[in-house]
Amino acid sequence: MDLYRLKIHELQEMLQRGEVSSREVTESVFRRIDDVEGKVGAFITLMEDEGLECAELADRRIEEGKQDGLTGIPLAIKDNMCMKGKRTTCGSKILESYKPPYDGTVIKSLGGHLSVPVGKTNMDEFAMGSSTETSYFGITRNPWDLGRIAGGSSGGSASAVAADECIGALGSDTGGSIRQPAAYCGVVGLKPTYGRVSRFGLVAFASSLDQIGPLTKDVRDCAILLTAISGHDRLDSTSVDIAVEDYVNSLDGDIGGLRIGIPKEYFTGGIDPDVEKSVWDAVKGLEKLGAAYKEVSLSHSEYALAAYYIIAPAEASSNLARYDGVKYGYRASRPEGLIDMYAKTRSEGFGREVKRRIMLGTYALSAGYYDAYYKKASQVRTLIARDFDEAFKECDLLLTPTVPAPAFKIGEKTGDPLQMYLTDIFTVPANLVGVPGISVPCGFSKDGLPIGLQLLGRHFDEATILRAAYAFEQHTDYHLRRPSLDAGRGK
Ligand code: GLN
Repeated sequence: MDLYRLKIHELQEMLQRGEVSSREVTESVFRRIDDVEGKVGAFITLMEDEGLECAELADRRIEEGKQDGLTGIPLAIKDNMCMKGKRTTCGSKILESYKPPYDGTVIKSLGGHLSVPVGKTNMDEFAMGSSTETSYFGITRNPWDLGRIAGGSSGGSASAVAADECIGALGSDTGGSIRQPAAYCGVVGLKPTYGRVSRFGLVAFASSLDQIGPLTKDVRDCAILLTAISGHDRLDSTSVDIAVEDYVNSLDGDIGGLRIGIPKEYFTGGIDPDVEKSVWDAVKGLEKLGAAYKEVSLSHSEYALAAYYIIAPAEASSNLARYDGVKYGYRASRPEGLIDMYAKTRSEGFGREVKRRIMLGTYALSAGYYDAYYKKASQVRTLIARDFDEAFKECDLLLTPTVPAPAFKIGEKTGDPLQMYLTDIFTVPANLVGVPGISVPCGFSKDGLPIGLQLLGRHFDEATILRAAYAFEQHTDYHLRRPSLDAGRGK
């Protein structure tokens, strides 16, 4: 049996029954990586030695009967989460050799479970991007068509899950970076409510939007991983002290009476016909399972992308001020004085997209422009949040496509940032408002590329979107198909 193909919940049972050991599973995963990583490029750093060592500890714990949710399960981690003594690059030259002196809170939680670290996954530099093409460490490819992007910025985590190079993974989502690559790669991805998962040890991009979340092979695995990483953390003042439910309990398949809202502003054109059809088929499918749907209005939707692309760069420009060649990572050689050292370090250390964001953000925050841009965008954010509050009076969740079209070709949008930004049109509102969102596979295009369905819930109501996603998944087989890892079809 190809153990690397299994899911978290399947392995949990097999490990518990003693049918396999974590060492066997881990070896199988690393053999798989040997076979396919050259094609996919999902990882920046592999951790085979640490992984095998941890697998042995996990096996001992399982033998002692002290196994819990993730013990012995090989997981991949996006390379913007601090792991003590392990290179954490954020896909950037400026952090190429940075080794954090501490574990982030999610890493600590996974370590407590004795889950097995597989490696650190590739990402757009500082999580800025929608395609994992801006990484200093190269491009990650889509396992369904190697000529296409995997999405971003958590493209490495999504493609590692899709290509069975790990059993599950963590990503981060500031404007869609978990849900969007999950949709492109045909896996499940969930952005939790802002404050549900600690951001301590997550390298900051836009602090009022960032959240860590799971990327998995199915919805049950997503619920397991989310339960493990959720919870209050006094090291993150924005994490919220609300009890964590066991999200697996919400997977009862019962969605009778569930009210689904379809935001009419999201369906006004520009959606690929295959995506539109799959999403409406999904609506009909959910209706058959007992849910009811109605049209709702999110009237400020057209401003969400613009507001996001002011707020996120503004926060980024402030967060990235710390990379100055003094405290962390890369420092330019032979500077002529302090100012020159800052300037050279930052111009040599950051890539083009990061510099673009810093310039946009600095401009939006500068005296004289602050009111016109940052303040206005913050006001728009409030209006968008009110739209969601109103909509959630009429429905229990909102349903949209995750992205307007399936994965595009590598290089197709790199010369046109605006086209790249437009792929985030359906995902950014959840971050601006702080609500949770999941992307679950809902079909394939004529070219055989995965399509994702997005479900958004009320604050801290991850249970409802997981319940609906699970019911939907159980009546479809999209999550069971695996990519062939063929060379690009060139269409
Ligand atoms: N694609 C979006 C951006 O480039 C979102 C990125 C993210 O969620 N990290 O800002």
